Amino acid sequence: MKLQKDYKFWFCTGSQDLYGDECLAHVAAHSKEMVEKLNASGVLPYEVVWKPTLITNELIRKTFNEANIDDTCAGVITWMHTFSPAKSWILGLQELRKPLLHLHTQYNMEIPYDTIDMDFMNENQAAHGDREYGHMVTRMRIPRKVVVGHWTDPEVQEKIASWQRTAIGIIESSHIRVMRVADNMRNVAVTEGDKVEAQLKFGWEVDAYPVNEIAEAVAAVSQSDTNELVDEYYDKYEILLEGRDPQEFKKHVAVQAQIELGFERFLEEKNYHAIVTHFGDLGALKQLPGLAIHRLEEKGYGFGAEGDWKVAAMVRLMKIMTAGMKNAKGTSMLEDYTYNLVPGKEGILQAHMLEICPSIADGPISIKCQPLSMGNREDPARLVFTSKEGSGIATSLIDMGNRFRLIINDVDCKKCEKPMPKLPVATNFWTPQPNLKTGAEAWILAGGAHHTAFSYDLTADQMGDWAEAMGIEAVYIDKNTNIRDFKRDLALGEIVFR
Ligand code: MN
Repeated sequence: MKLQKDYKFWFCTGSQDLYGDECLAHVAAHSKEMVEKLNASGVLPYEVVWKPTLITNELIRKTFNEANIDDTCAGVITWMHTFSPAKSWILGLQELRKPLLHLHTQYNMEIPYDTIDMDFMNENQAAHGDREYGHMVTRMRIPRKVVVGHWTDPEVQEKIASWQRTAIGIIESSHIRVMRVADNMRNVAVTEGDKVEAQLKFGWEVDAYPVNEIAEAVAAVSQSDTNELVDEYYDKYEILLEGRDPQEFKKHVAVQAQIELGFERFLEEKNYHAIVTHFGDLGALKQLPGLAIHRLEEKGYGFGAEGDWKVAAMVRLMKIMTAGMKNAKGTSMLEDYTYNLVPGKEGILQAHMLEICPSIADGPISIKCQPLSMGNREDPARLVFTSKEGSGIATSLIDMGNRFRLIINDVDCKKCEKPMPKLPVATNFWTPQPNLKTGAEAWILAGGAHHTAFSYDLTADQMGDWAEAMGIEAVYIDKNTNIRDFKRDLALGEIVFR
């Protein structure tokens, strides 16, 4: 599955004709050089494309509408090189439908004390030109990212790079299609939600299919295709028989290989990018999809367990946002399972029955075949591994009844103190920021779920900016969280987002 498209970002420089042609020639030369060097920096994940200087209402409107209809344009970067009267931007901004970044920079870095004159001042006046423009964007209540600093500053370039991935999330969200092959688990609240509102807000299409339709696609997979994939599994993963007969074990694994191929073909044929299953509604499937789902998630599909389509869509979204990232550490669905409450060692063991994406794995990955302890099917084969250390974000998108809220928690992933030889599932272990007690208290007060969409490779800012662009509430649980302020944030959200 192709995760990354060849998106570009337009670089639109604002000015006006008050300063004469010579000045405008300098404006164009400056912004062209900036675009070239930004592209050459190697920092930006997506190319920036220079556009002719915008100096009139007509040209701004025309350029922004061209950006709207260009499928390869994932966002617009604006910068007011010189003063650009902001009324000229109103019509264009009213019609712009692409993500917007305001790069508040200046061509020149240092004031040239010995030579500075009014010509210099006129050609380096973003300090007031960008304020005029920024005023209008704020007055029009348009969500945008503002990045401040010299355009050669690595931190500035990193911020542009980071926003590009947010913009990809904004653009690609409306292309996410989730296949539900079962309804939500009976009586469970937090995995439910308003699918119509999700389509209005995020553009997600969430459709149901009878489980036996996909089971038929699984049954149609040939024995030879299945055997070939089983061989691949046996090459790639450690086989942990744990006393089981090798032939019987292999048969269980083959069931998952057939499910992987059947599911993948069904999803491809019908153009879906995420899937949910439910252990209690498996139709003609012989096992709960385990190994099959681990692998599909690694290929870029979103997944949510027990019918959790919000998590499936979020995992897919976050995989698209991180696509092509160098040294990516992984993105997966996870579930808060068990606490370690020993003072100084507090943390949450993250796991699921199966289904965790091996992109987050650290070290060897094994296949085990164990009873599921729920449902009524064969023991499913699954991948077992532990996860990388390092910081990450756990997100939970919940339906508050009248709106969606995205909860974003900075977490520190650690190695478990000891191996867990009897636990037949993939795990991660993290301590939520600012610490377990406050982090979990805030999470519960915010109404966060037990399922999360987790990534090592995205930041709270990126997800918060995505939420802002979607017009939904975002709450952050991080090193600065204290419960009094957090409760006030939640209370404010009730007013702002009702
Ligand atoms: Mn679950």
